[in-house]
Amino acid sequence: MQAAVFTDTDTPVEVTEVQLEGPRAGEVRVKIAAAGVCHSDLHVKRGEWDAPAPLVMGHEGSGVVTELGEGVTSLAVGDHVVLSWVPPCGECRYCRQGHEARCQKVATVVAPKGVLFDGTSRLSRDGETVHHYLGVSSYAEEVVVPASGAIKVRDDAPLDVIAVVGCAVATGVGAVLNTAAVEPGSTVAVIGCGGVGLNVVQGAKLAGADRIVAIDVLPEKTAMAVQFGATDRIDGSKGDAVEQLLELIPDGVDYAFDAIGRTITTEQAIKMLGLGGAAVIVGLPPTGAKASFEPLVLAEADQRILGSNYGSVRPAIDIPALVDKYMDGQLKLDPLISGRRPLAEAREALDELESGAALRTLLIP
Ligand SMILES: [Zn+2]
Ligand SMILES: [Zn+2]
Repeated sequence: MQAAVFTDTDTPVEVTEVQLEGPRAGEVRVKIAAAGVCHSDLHVKRGEWDAPAPLVMGHEGSGVVTELGEGVTSLAVGDHVVLSWVPPCGECRYCRQGHEARCQKVATVVAPKGVLFDGTSRLSRDGETVHHYLGVSSYAEEVVVPASGAIKVRDDAPLDVIAVVGCAVATGVGAVLNTAAVEPGSTVAVIGCGGVGLNVVQGAKLAGADRIVAIDVLPEKTAMAVQFGATDRIDGSKGDAVEQLLELIPDGVDYAFDAIGRTITTEQAIKMLGLGGAAVIVGLPPTGAKASFEPLVLAEADQRILGSNYGSVRPAIDIPALVDKYMDGQLKLDPLISGRRPLAEAREALDELESGAALRTLLIP
């Protein structure tokens, strides 16, 4: 099959022929309908994260189940699925506690080693092992994934739209509803209004937040955030974002989401908090990045700093519910998708995201 392979930072991402083995016990084969191009793919391409290479890129996607491995009873051939980049093992202490986004087996085997649960890969190229990216590798015609990473959703939802639920929407909306558990009437600031940030904004609206302040250096992005429910806009290119926020809301906000994940934006989120406020780190920085805060202020103001991985989702519960919310008109997905390209244009799609020109491009095999 054709797939987009990352080899190293000196080699452009290449759409090429790779071999995909059939599913083993507990796994399924899925024919990809659409794959989203996300910032986490860019981190890999730039060499900012350690990823086992070569690998087939992509961790967001949707498709149709075409083959079941031994023992799989939770899915049937023909099921429509959204892929989850945390395929919960169901057995570790975090899975048993219901904190599936923290799955230990995913964190120690699947993600860092670029393999499936049994420690091996189904992907190869001319006899050489090719790794899975985050247990998904959706920039491809087909994938083999753990059955727990293929989340069955309703058949009437358009697959070439709901692919984005698997990362951008789950991460952004989940950070608000699960990680932070924002209460109705809260004040919320959102730094960065890209694919994840816009989902934080619409998550805050779902949660019943009273003020939702959208912050970005590109005014067209905060204008878009208004469509998703933002009540106020700050242009981060026109002076200090923290000062501008405190002019709007002098007491500071209850929740500040860093949807970018740079040292400066994390520090800004902490400085925007009011008494009892929580800063939520959603965007992911390069490995090793450090940010600082003043512990005395944090303690005296009774504030919190929360990390949010994959929106603290329980994939099998939250992903179908998010698809339902889209179908009921409570969540916007179509405006998040800025374009669709054939899989063969994976490199161009990544370049476009890097340049800031694209919000979310879907690759269609
Ligand atoms: Zn992503
Ligand atoms: Zn687990």
